[in-house]
Formats: sequence, structure tokens, C-alpha cells
Amino acid sequence: MGLDQIKGRIAAAETAAGRANGEVRLIAVSKVQPAERVERVLATGQRIFGENYVQEAAGKWPAWREQYRGVELHMIGPLQTNKVKPALDLFDAIHTLDRPSLAQKLARQVQDRGSCPQLFVQVNTGAEPQKAGILPDAADDFIRECLALDLTLAGLMCIPPEDQDSRPHFIELRGIARRNGLKGLSMGMSSDFEVAIAEGATHVRVGSAIFGARSYL
Ligand SMILES: *Cc1c(COP(=O)(O)O)cnc(C)c1O
Repeated sequence: MGLDQIKGRIAAAETAAGRANGEVRLIAVSKVQPAERVERVLATGQRIFGENYVQEAAGKWPAWREQYRGVELHMIGPLQTNKVKPALDLFDAIHTLDRPSLAQKLARQVQDRGSCPQLFVQVNTGAEPQKAGILPDAADDFIRECLALDLTLAGLMCIPPEDQDSRPHFIELRGIARRNGLKGLSMGMSSDFEVAIAEGATHVRVGSAIFGARSYL
């Protein structure tokens, strides 16, 4: 596919939805991709990237940040409580705030540092037992709990079940965000980002459609 085609498809989806061009932020998901592929995309000017693993990101991004100005790094994988410190050293945004213990740990770190990353609460809209995220029924309470800890929330994030139409999940996420006064919606991946944009996504997370298939060796 490539970055240019994806940007074109995002712009077309924005227009089709009656939204301004450039409104949706594209997070290029570079997890597990070979360095050459990521460097090619950096060279074209893309600056927002997503990673799933703290350790992998720590090995790759400090050098790229030196070399390319203005990189914005988003953590989109599950975050272990004992990795919060290194994660906050590395990432500008965390999309996987999914449980009280993590909120508490983040709150302590945010107070110490005096700055808060962009935070998205992950909602398990499909109520899948193997998947991370707050259940939709518990989302309002959890959001209130995060706000009471003085965390600033950018919005919500979801990963719909693989075998289902994503649209109802995106609509549900939007509803939870609206009734809680949250603006950001991190939703949509390679296979469904256009649907997500139609349903109000502010951030889409696109990996394989930009970089090619991931090979986990
Ligand atoms: C890997 C990943 C993506 C990107 O997936 P693609 O299907 O390659 O676009 C997006 N979001 C999350 C949370 C991921 O783990």
C-alpha cells in the first residue's frame, strides 16, 4: 500500500464524512517492522508512530528522535504497571489505560513529573475475555476515577473483535466518549480505518497497510 495511498484514503474518508482534511491524526504503527521500512516512512515526513512494546520502542526510538525532529510516539500495546516509568520516558501518548492499578501508578508519576501524556482509556467494546480494556458498563465509573486522580484524558480507544463488523463498536465508543465529555477517539486499523473516520475517529492506528505485513520471527 504505502503511506501516500493511506493518506489519500484518509483524506477521501474525511471528505466523505463532511470533515476537514487533516483533522484525523494518522499513527503509523511500526511495531516489529524492520528499521529500513520505518526509516523510509520517517524520510517522507511522517512523525506520529505507534509501538506496542516498551522494550522494543526503547531500543529503536531514542536514536530516531535525535535524527528526526518532532517525532511523536504513541504506546498502543498493553502496559505493565512496572513499565510505567520507562514508558513515560519514551511515549507522548498512551492508548491503553485499562485498569485502576495502572491509573494510580500513572497518576503518581504524572504528579512527580509535572506533565501528563495524552491518555486514552481502552474500552473492551466486544467484552472479549482475552482482550484488555474496561468493559463498556464500567467505563463511566473508571473515567470518573481517572479524573479524580487528576489525570487528563484525551479520549477513548478500542480494538473491535476481529470477526465482527467494526462499525457498531466504533459507535458504542463514540457514545461513551460523548456522554463523558471526551473528544478523542482512537479507533480504526488497516482494515477498517475508513469506517472509523466515518464514525468520528480522531486518531487511526495503521500498521500493515503502510509498512507491509509484519513477520514475527
Ligand atoms: C498492531 C496494532 C495496530 C495496527 O494494526 P494493522 O492491522 O497492522 O493496521 C493498531 N492498533 C493496535 C492496538 C495494534 O496492536
